[in-house]
Amino acid sequence: MTARTVSIWGSTGSIGTQAVDVILTHPGRFRVVTMTGHANGRLLLEQAKKLRPATAVLTGPLDDPSRWKEFFRDNGTELLLGREGLLEAASRGAEQIVLNALVGAVGLEATLAAVRAGVSIALANKEVLVMAGELVMREIRGRGLSIIPVDSEHSAVFQCLEGENPASIRRILLTASGGPFLRTPASELSAVTPEQALTHPNWTMGRKVTIDSATLANKGLEVIEARWLFAVPPERIEVVVHPQSIIHSMVEFADGSVKAQLGVPDMRIPISHALSYPERLAHDFGRLDFTRSAPLVFLPPDTERFPALKMAYQALAAGGTATAVYNAADEEAVGLFLSGAVGFTDIPRLLEAALNSHRNAADADLTGILGADEWARGFVRQEASKVKSAS
Ligand code: MG
Repeated sequence: MTARTVSIWGSTGSIGTQAVDVILTHPGRFRVVTMTGHANGRLLLEQAKKLRPATAVLTGPLDDPSRWKEFFRDNGTELLLGREGLLEAASRGAEQIVLNALVGAVGLEATLAAVRAGVSIALANKEVLVMAGELVMREIRGRGLSIIPVDSEHSAVFQCLEGENPASIRRILLTASGGPFLRTPASELSAVTPEQALTHPNWTMGRKVTIDSATLANKGLEVIEARWLFAVPPERIEVVVHPQSIIHSMVEFADGSVKAQLGVPDMRIPISHALSYPERLAHDFGRLDFTRSAPLVFLPPDTERFPALKMAYQALAAGGTATAVYNAADEEAVGLFLSGAVGFTDIPRLLEAALNSHRNAADADLTGILGADEWARGFVRQEASKVKSAS
């Protein structure tokens, strides 16, 4: 069997390191073309020694770039630098599929570059579709390429839809763990610290998505992501809180049948699915024992305590650049919360203020979308400094 050529963007992050794990368990099945990291050159080099990619990219600032280039050259790997390096590697089209596990908005341009070079996408970087879902899906579908979700919920929906007629979808039910504050009273939420918010009950994930899980903004981003991935209108996408994260999501069909995808909460499973699709690789990342599991619990989401979820639907209804603003304002607000500049409940407050003050643009191109992104970040920083001085 010929190896599938893959690139891993964001290789040193949480999803990236787990993807490296998956590939190392089936070394003959994949040939890695490009691996990218941000600032952790040491880890990227260590990974490059194992997977021997032709190209590596470090997008973050480096102390001594020429020394790093030499280290990678000794491994037979060309090192490219910065955003330009990422875009250059992306536009070569030298792989069959890119696992985009970049964090935040930086992945959008690179994704479009890869798609325009004829590369399919395994998407972990949900911001790409939140910012520019309509544009990105048009580019992908127009070229007959595929986009396979890595996000556990969307991977579940994708698997439930296998062999189904999309016209028969009645509802998509995205499950949400509810995060660490599922049972925390509203009055205590404002005093939550970054350390508390970074303790996710079920999943091991990066810092940004863990905070987003605590505010339910992650589920908001996922509703928007699902809307574009599966071409389903927002009113047919519902969120169900399911604290055990055993059911990863469900689809209800026209005849009333519901399909669910279940498994242990381990991101390596959806990563493996996306990289090897339509085949399944054998893994031993843990198995469910139904005779021992506690009853599965389902609850409606509390959008009073966690208003960020509601705002995602509002942004979708507004259309245009509103979802890009939702994404950027949230990313900025989470960064400010992690640095101690604002409180936990300021995150949805800043999000709402940004959505309310934004001048929406319909049919925006990439430039318009990136402009809205930049505006939202500036707005949030400015609003946050007011919050700070008022407290
Ligand atoms: Mg998810």
